[in-house]
Amino acid sequence: MPPHSAALTRLREHPTTALANLPTPLIQLSRLGETLGTNRLWAKMDAETGFALGGNKVRKLEFVLAPSMLEGVTCLITAGGPQSNHCRVTAAFAARQGIRCVLVTNQGPEGDPTGNALLHRLFGAEIVLAGDRSERAILMDSVADELRAQGEIPLVVPIGASTPLGSLGYARAAIELCEQLDALDDGCSETLVFSASSSGGTLAGLIAGLALLGRSDVHLRGVSADAPATELDDVCRSLAGEATELLGAKIDPGTIPFASIDDQVGDGYGLPTPASREATELFGRHAGVVLDPTYTSKAAAALIAHMRSHGVRDHQRIVFLHTGGAPGLLA
Ligand SMILES: *Cc1c(COP(=O)(O)O)cnc(C)c1O
Repeated sequence: MPPHSAALTRLREHPTTALANLPTPLIQLSRLGETLGTNRLWAKMDAETGFALGGNKVRKLEFVLAPSMLEGVTCLITAGGPQSNHCRVTAAFAARQGIRCVLVTNQGPEGDPTGNALLHRLFGAEIVLAGDRSERAILMDSVADELRAQGEIPLVVPIGASTPLGSLGYARAAIELCEQLDALDDGCSETLVFSASSSGGTLAGLIAGLALLGRSDVHLRGVSADAPATELDDVCRSLAGEATELLGAKIDPGTIPFASIDDQVGDGYGLPTPASREATELFGRHAGVVLDPTYTSKAAAALIAHMRSHGVRDHQRIVFLHTGGAPGLLA
């Protein structure tokens, strides 16, 4: 019996709006593994959650946009960068529901919108421009006030859906991943997972799920897209604790081997580095897998750097959690 079976039952039965195609595949990247010196490299393909081109935001929004949250709601408001994957999925959901969507984003480059910026508009979202990233949260609240004055009932979806509730999407994903790992029957006793990390909900959910399962054999590396590692560590651990409290459980996030890595950020958020470009080429050429410039290419660069400097230990597998983002490559 796992240590927190009542909380796990609550997690499995928690009401959601079903959006994702689950389980996402766990695939072996044999050729890419060969070029990196291992036959134990895998990818958990959350790029293929499906809804509105997929990615990790779909799992989080299944909880944040659960039916009880949407009662009476006539408009969704959220925020992100001009190439935000989170804004894309939120806008597509509003389109499918037939409700308004207002996106608070920063100004993108001049010219016709491309990639996610194009999709935000295709899904019919209204765009409100924010001067800089720090302005976005305040602007969402003032947009909400304006809409209320117009008689709308807005729901503000926090950036990245990285709330304790949204993180539960990745706690559930941890259960799904563990079931797939256990079915491999390959004699490995330890798994090292690399994932991109920014607002922290993805890693927080994984920490929470693994702690509820009591799985200290799965080690997590959250590869930062922007923030310093110490800051991101704190965000992830506290979100993980709050997420499990929603399920009536108290975990010690310290029991799960987890660390944030910030040595792939380079010149900053969304800016490619030589290593992220190389990762994009290797994953494309040797695996047919599309990485994005902001998140997954940097997470993959961290995985490659780890394998080159440490190799793969006996009885260890490496898993790349592919969190999506392909529209960003085409922007
Ligand atoms: C948002 C996003 C992330 C970061 O996930 P968080 O839960 O915000 O840490 C990683 N990869 C992609 C493709 C994303 O869109």
